[in-house]
Amino acid sequence: MQALNIANMAPGHYEETRQASAADLDLHERDEFQAPITMVIRIDKASDELIVTVDWQTVISGSCDRCADPLQIPLSDALAMVYTYDPQERGEEDEDVLLISESTREVDLTDHLRQSLILALPLKLLCREECKGLCSHCGANLNNESCSCPPDPLDPRWEKLEQLLNRKK
Ligand SMILES: [Zn+2]
Ligand SMILES: [Zn+2]
Repeated sequence: MQALNIANMAPGHYEETRQASAADLDLHERDEFQAPITMVIRIDKASDELIVTVDWQTVISGSCDRCADPLQIPLSDALAMVYTYDPQERGEEDEDVLLISESTREVDLTDHLRQSLILALPLKLLCREECKGLCSHCGANLNNESCSCPPDPLDPRWEKLEQLLNRKK
């Protein structure tokens, strides 16, 4: 859990750096998150609102989608939350503006942070952009070796096209 204690906080700018584990953010079921997550938390407290921004960074672990080599990739992003003391300011639709009151003692950033981390995950994990992957016949890692397998047969959908093209020649 990552909570900010805002009880009796005077208006002003506050900054702190924290480190959390994946478990602290309820991310322990996501294999990508093994390393600690470093966060720079900035709080701007005014009389009517509290603005919290978090710049976080971590390193994710996984394996390349093409060659299956283990890899680690740095990942970072930021999120901003607005907490307002004024019920009028809390728009119906706006999930990033949350209502708090003078008696609110702490705000919990856990869910927002977890979402931000998951959303920042790349769709594809590649050890490098030009990874050649594994041979579909012998399984050789084509980044490290070349094999003597014949090239992949054409996809049947392309075969028709090729026939058409050949006919024209
Ligand atoms: Zn790879
Ligand atoms: Zn091969």
